[in-house]
Amino acid sequence: MIFKAFGVKLEAFGYPTQLQALPFGFTAISSERHQTSSLRTHAEKRALAELIRKPNAVLEMTINFKMCADCHKFMKSASRVYEKGIIVEEPRLRHKFQGGSCSCLDDGGGKRGPK
Ligand SMILES: [Zn+2]
Ligand SMILES: [Zn+2]
Repeated sequence: MIFKAFGVKLEAFGYPTQLQALPFGFTAISSERHQTSSLRTHAEKRALAELIRKPNAVLEMTINFKMCADCHKFMKSASRVYEKGIIVEEPRLRHKFQGGSCSCLDDGGGKRGPK
C-alpha cells in the first residue's frame, strides 16, 4: 500500500498521530487501532501521498469539505518534512502550508467559525 511507506516516513520525522483530533464520541467507542486507521485514510492524506510520489509535482489539492485537525497537523508536518509548500483549498479557506506552519495560523482546525 502506497500510504504505508508515506506514513512510516512521517513517523520517522516525529509526526504523531493525533487521536485527540477525533470527535469525543468516536474516541470513546472505538479501539485505538480503529481510530488510527480512520485517521490514516482521510482523503486529504491519501491525496498528498499520491502527489508526493510524483517528482516535482505541485502539492496542491481542492477539497469540498473542511479539513479535520489531524489532517491540518499532518499537512504542516509534511510541509516541513518534505520542505515543500502544500496548498489545500477548502470551500471557504485556502491553506498554504510551508515549513511546518500554515497561512491560516490555525493550530487546532475545527475552531474556526460555524460549519
Ligand atoms: Zn482528516
Ligand atoms: Zn490552515
